[in-house]
Amino acid sequence: MKKYDLIIIGGGASGLMAGVLAKDKGLDFLIIEKNKRVGMKLGITGKGRCNLSNYITDLDTLVSKYIHNGKFLYHAFSEFNPVDTKKFFEERMNIPLKIERGNRVFPKSDRSLDVVNAFYNELEENMLLNTEVKGIEEKDGRITKVITDNGEYIADNYILATGGKTYPLTGSTGDGYSFAKSLGHTINYTYPVLVGFKCREDFVEELAGLTLKHVNISVLKDGEVYKGEFGDALFTHDGISGPIILNLSQYTYDMYEEGFEISIDLKPRVEFTELDARVNKLLRENGTTSLKNILKDLLPSSLIPVIIKLSNLDPYITGAEINKDNREKIVTLLKDLRLNITDSEGYQRAVVNTGGVDIKEVDPMTMKSKIVENLYFTGDILDLFGPTGGYNLQIAWSTAFVAVDSLS
Ligand SMILES: Cc1cc2nc3c(=O)[nH]c(=O)nc-3n(C[C@H](O)[C@H](O)[C@H](O)COP(=O)(O)OP(=O)(O)OC[C@H]3O[C@@H](n4cnc5c(N)ncnc54)[C@H](O)[C@@H]3O)c2cc1C
Repeated sequence: MKKYDLIIIGGGASGLMAGVLAKDKGLDFLIIEKNKRVGMKLGITGKGRCNLSNYITDLDTLVSKYIHNGKFLYHAFSEFNPVDTKKFFEERMNIPLKIERGNRVFPKSDRSLDVVNAFYNELEENMLLNTEVKGIEEKDGRITKVITDNGEYIADNYILATGGKTYPLTGSTGDGYSFAKSLGHTINYTYPVLVGFKCREDFVEELAGLTLKHVNISVLKDGEVYKGEFGDALFTHDGISGPIILNLSQYTYDMYEEGFEISIDLKPRVEFTELDARVNKLLRENGTTSLKNILKDLLPSSLIPVIIKLSNLDPYITGAEINKDNREKIVTLLKDLRLNITDSEGYQRAVVNTGGVDIKEVDPMTMKSKIVENLYFTGDILDLFGPTGGYNLQIAWSTAFVAVDSLS
């Protein structure tokens, strides 16, 4: 049986990066991918535009963005940072890039498929597609072979790059967790992260599709603000999602069982008293106009019936008829609209998950297993995640870099 220098299990972002680096190193390697195509998840990143990195050049600042196990990435980022990533894609992969708001790096073409195709063209001869790894055998602390539905394969070294378990239709179904477990690794409990929230309130259904721009949303814990974010959010048919919710979900992944509240400040740029004065003025200037029409000055139209219903006021009450208490009720809803969060949207819709291969059993200098001599881990399979904005693909590129770099 042919023996490769390296077998890479999984042809996603980190497996493909490892492949190109192995090729440049002159290694004889094979990428085993269960789908008919490589990079299915990579192809849907950044809403099809592939936000492939976040161009932060200061190492400490970059690491500080990773609130979960970020320190583990220190070495990987010092070896292969967003500057190296940009250079790699532009010079090695011939993909011109651009940097957008918030340091987010995208292909100039706005097409993630350009990234996938560039990898494919580079690695076509080293790929075994449509081949699912079913098991990994080990003896005396070394992997001896990989068993697939298409035969058995052997190599000196193995990279497990099978991803996490979100968007399972892309092929990331958590297979690698059971392989790693069977090889003696600890698999930490997984939860979906970077994911929308489901809520108890039925009224969100009426708001589905409404984007809230420049709002502040806080997660409340024991009645106190636990974490807040400013930006945009989007109502869904059973909850709320969008950039700030995804980032807040980094802090809430173990809170759904008990449930928690979020508070939406629809007017974060003005304090309560200032907003109250403005609303008071608006009501006085529109004394004969109905509340539902007055609110058009303050709210998107689909939110108006919801706010009126929650304030228990008659939509046809006029500006002059609204007393101080009722006015304050409205202002309170504008500053502190509450939703009771009951769950996340789950693995089907999450960008990444927490949990997975415990980093304590992996050498951060090399991504090498501390348990199995010739095994390496890259990308989402590790118990790591970053916020939205290109930070997760950066994990994939940098961990692949140190893994291949450390192979002799
Ligand atoms: C909708 C969405 C949008 C995203 N957008 C961004 C973004 O814009 N920027 C960003 O930084 N991150 C983004 N991410 C996260 C990013 O896609 C992941 O962090 C990245 O793909 C992880 O790469 P990976 O190689 O570890 O795993 P994956 O890309 O998940 O690849 C794993 C591969 O292994 C294969 N595999 C699994 N099991 C087996 C098996 N038994 N045998 C053979 N092959 C197997 C799978 O089929 C898959 O191809 C997004 C994620 C999602 C879901």
